Amino acid sequence: MKEILLNPGPVTLSPGVRAAAIRSDLCHREPEFIAAQSAVISGLLDVYGCDPGAWTAVTLGGSGTIAMEAMLSSLVHGDDRVLIIDNGVYGQRLAQIADIHGIPHETERFPWGHEIDIQRINEQLSRGTYTYLAVVHHETTTGRLNSLAVLAGICLQHGVRLLADTVSSFGAEEIPFRHESLAACAGTANKCLHGLPGLAFVIVRNDLLAQRQPQRSLYMNLATWADKQRQSSTPFTPPVPAVLALQQALEELSSHGGWTARRARYLYLANAVEAALANAGVEPWLATGESSCVLRSYRLPSEMSYQEVHAGFKRNGFTIYGGQGNLSQHMFRISTMGDINDLDLVRLTEAIREIFQ
Ligand SMILES: *Cc1c(COP(=O)(O)O)cnc(C)c1O
Repeated sequence: MKEILLNPGPVTLSPGVRAAAIRSDLCHREPEFIAAQSAVISGLLDVYGCDPGAWTAVTLGGSGTIAMEAMLSSLVHGDDRVLIIDNGVYGQRLAQIADIHGIPHETERFPWGHEIDIQRINEQLSRGTYTYLAVVHHETTTGRLNSLAVLAGICLQHGVRLLADTVSSFGAEEIPFRHESLAACAGTANKCLHGLPGLAFVIVRNDLLAQRQPQRSLYMNLATWADKQRQSSTPFTPPVPAVLALQQALEELSSHGGWTARRARYLYLANAVEAALANAGVEPWLATGESSCVLRSYRLPSEMSYQEVHAGFKRNGFTIYGGQGNLSQHMFRISTMGDINDLDLVRLTEAIREIFQ
């Protein structure tokens, strides 16, 4: 039975991406690796048509969190102050990172899953004490898609720059790169881009990439990775298979119609799953239109535990995800990222009928 991952990363790989990952044993100091690294760097910029004259894609080894931490700890300096929005696990993580690095910040908290109160953010920013606003685009905690374009517009009015965690949206949702307030976004290979885990990246405006002292981290410093990558090198041993796999995954994304086509595919799958669950009496957590195309969260039926629901999917060959923190007793989540074909979807809707009958 084909195993299908419906958790929010890592995702089910296409046969081409899986083969690319183990294509050869390759040293990262050889020209073949540098060619793959360059293709990945330009391919990442191409996903949203970012001009290399204005933007740099910096790849670094680690999971998505390293991109969040590298972005905040490398770009925020001196007298900078950050307003962080927390309406889920990953917004809270941004604040933890700022705490650990001693980055001056305030956090605007909203109950997990709730919408961001734009008026409140506008009032905070109008105090004039912030250099940056940091926010999670797709809050994977509940599937809520935060309004990045609206926040970018407010940032522009207040002369504030926007740092976005786009780890679970890059490659499948619209990201407002045209807004001059958007300064950087953090991403990973193993979510909407359908690559292997172990490789993360930050897309950052070139003017923010100068080496700044004091450095907050040896390994996570963006300028260090960017400087070496510009010289066709790499500062540390990168996750070679993940780079080879992402090169292939980016080619597949492009040949299948880019992020807009991927968004349409995810929406089709998510709507089909939601309809099958509705037939079985299972309700979505958020109202229609509030979720990303990537993931939807659902209320656990009162007579079933998460363990039972998870086991039901697992015996049918599907891995789903639980709720985080206090939500774990009430929620389960289904992501439709990854190489999921129409036959897989048929199997999935049949499994849903069997599990919740
Ligand atoms: C997955 C994810 C991350 C990174 O989490 P890791 O555990 O480091 O992979 C960061 N932000 C969001 C919104 C995510 O969904």
